Amino acid sequence: MNEILTNELRDQYLKTLSPEQTDFIRNHVRRGKKTIFANSMAKDKGIVLPEDLNSEEIEHLLEDWVLIDYIDNGFVNPDTPCECGRPLRYQYIVKHNKSNEQRTFGINHFEEHTGLPPNIVKLIKSGFQTIEYEMDELLIKIFNNWNIEEEVPFTLDEDYIYPIDMQKHLDANVPLLDRQIKRVKQQILSLSSGPKREVTDREFEAKDTQKISPFYATETQEPDPINLFSEEEMPLPKKENDLKPYALASEYRDAVFGYLTEGVTSTRIICELLMKNYHAPSERYYSGRPKIYVSVCFYLDLLVSKEKALHIGSLNLDDRYYKLT
Ligand SMILES: [Zn+2]
Repeated sequence: MNEILTNELRDQYLKTLSPEQTDFIRNHVRRGKKTIFANSMAKDKGIVLPEDLNSEEIEHLLEDWVLIDYIDNGFVNPDTPCECGRPLRYQYIVKHNKSNEQRTFGINHFEEHTGLPPNIVKLIKSGFQTIEYEMDELLIKIFNNWNIEEEVPFTLDEDYIYPIDMQKHLDANVPLLDRQIKRVKQQILSLSSGPKREVTDREFEAKDTQKISPFYATETQEPDPINLFSEEEMPLPKKENDLKPYALASEYRDAVFGYLTEGVTSTRIICELLMKNYHAPSERYYSGRPKIYVSVCFYLDLLVSKEKALHIGSLNLDDRYYKLT
């Protein structure tokens, strides 16, 4: 669905929502934009991160600008101006992580008031646009009395468990996005296509934990690399030896523990911080995933086996989340 609403129609639709739906959609847009902004700033430093990693995690890595808020004031309000004095309806508020300097501006003066390079501004703006299209998609679906049974022409098992992000939509009485429905369909199709079926997220997680946690078995047992890397990430032959041993070098262990203490939960972010602040090896796979990722997971799983940390759910194989007990 690529329909785009006019500003008038969008406002009209927004007025018909329940408070719960309004909150959900506004939050979806705010969080989405913060994530796009943080991900783009990381990309500018050559860091490729999983797309669904939230902005709070990414911001541990960023030393310069972070988007701290995006506000819809409801109307063009002279009390909420751009840096240059122009009154705004939609306000972006960014903060410089090092200097604490805060700036407020409208999308049109993004580049002028942040001094960010044009290529980054372009990347951020197109990401913002995607989020806005998604808002329109949700509003149009609500207006058209969207119904999940019409969208998913399969009989879902009664005990089918939606992935967490989708369940949040359904709980707030908000339709699913087309990209989410696509995921559900793919999952169901693969469930019904015989022995090589794909697993549901929850099964997947359980399986994933077994796969990557050799410390649950014996500490000397080496993992089967095929289970640990997607095909594109299979190590290049000449680098194969770099992958062994899998144990995390002792000089990084305290740092990993320190980051958990600071509240970093994403293994991918911990890897980036080790490379940035502790000169950890900076080799990456084609996907952008750092090679030390597996070793860091192993160390984190060791902490889990010692009941010092917990593995908290993640939706994909690109990242794993942990926190201290
Ligand atoms: Zn301005």
